[in-house]
Amino acid sequence: MSINIKVKNITEEQYNHFFQKWLYTYGGATDVVSLEDYIDTYDDWYGDVDVYDSSVCPCVMCLDEDIDG
Ligand SMILES: [Zn+2]
Repeated sequence: MSINIKVKNITEEQYNHFFQKWLYTYGGATDVVSLEDYIDTYDDWYGDVDVYDSSVCPCVMCLDEDIDG
């Protein structure tokens, strides 16, 4: 899988987390804020992108982390 994000140098895992945060926030509405813009302007709205904790981030990935332990 190639990542076509040029705004920041991020790992695929971080990209996936940004994607889930963005999906939760905007429901995939790219006409509101594009994923690239979201990553570019992200400033720990839901905690650091490397933090997977449902107490700070409401995205699906973090909720799954909690369920799985
Ligand atoms: Zn999350």
